[in-house]
Amino acid sequence: MSVIGRFAPSPTGPLHFGSVVAAVASYMQAKSQHGKWLVRMDDIDTPRNQAGADSSILKSLEILGLYWDDKVLFQSHRQAAYQEALDLLTDKNLLYRCTCTRKQLQGKAYPGTCRDKGHSSDQQHALRVLCNQQAINLNDEIQGKFQQNLETEIGDFIVHRADGLVAYHIATVVDDAWQNITEIVRGADLLDSTPRQIYLQKLFNYHSPAYAHLPVAVDKQGYKLSKQYHAKPIDDEDPVTTLLLALEFLGQDPDKLLAQENVEEIIQWGIKHWSLEKIPRLDTIEVKSS
Ligand code: GLU
Ligand code: ZN
Repeated sequence: MSVIGRFAPSPTGPLHFGSVVAAVASYMQAKSQHGKWLVRMDDIDTPRNQAGADSSILKSLEILGLYWDDKVLFQSHRQAAYQEALDLLTDKNLLYRCTCTRKQLQGKAYPGTCRDKGHSSDQQHALRVLCNQQAINLNDEIQGKFQQNLETEIGDFIVHRADGLVAYHIATVVDDAWQNITEIVRGADLLDSTPRQIYLQKLFNYHSPAYAHLPVAVDKQGYKLSKQYHAKPIDDEDPVTTLLLALEFLGQDPDKLLAQENVEEIIQWGIKHWSLEKIPRLDTIEVKSS
């Protein structure tokens, strides 16, 4: 089977170093296996979208020489497919309405409070999917073995939000399958989400892709460089430095002389020397200036 990788940014702000790392790693992992690399805009969480961020991200990727195959898929255009997936779970009697507030749950595993309540649809509600005690196992290509018992560690999780939006897990799983993604390379902050996604893949009879969860770039305080924490956007004027810093972060040990080369040369060097084994087996790595 030919390799298909993807980079799935949320257009909540310009590209920053943390997301460049995921873009470079997913690109190199696909291209070093002569595969395709797709870009998907995870823009379903509309309240978090920032106007113009999608085009700014795509422009930065082009400046970095990270050209994608096929057309960019926008999740905002995929509502019908997500609804179909939710309908399938409804048909299997796996969904129920939940009216609990986030405050009531205090971030703990959801104890199934609304499982048997039979809430009417008049009340504002989220939809949760029934989980079970069966352990979900993952053999991550970077982080190694990871196991989760969804019922005790996560609880029945939300697949359709109370504000009417489809939940991230549904959209991701439906689109990864639709795009025939064979290998998902993304930040280790999503490792904890992966068993939920594998569980949904099983319910939908989808093939599960391979997973590689990268160390996440954090600041001195240990916070993920993210748009929420106002991580500095990357400098579109200096893609060479950005690429070299990303390759270095990923343990690829780029040749110092590459600093005098152009973007294309660095991309070619990266593909040729790419090795997943060299990526530090860590879940976070501190980066100096953010
Ligand atoms: N859109 C998500 C993010 O920007 C990534 C989703 C994924 O890779 O599954 O964090
Ligand atoms: Zn509830």
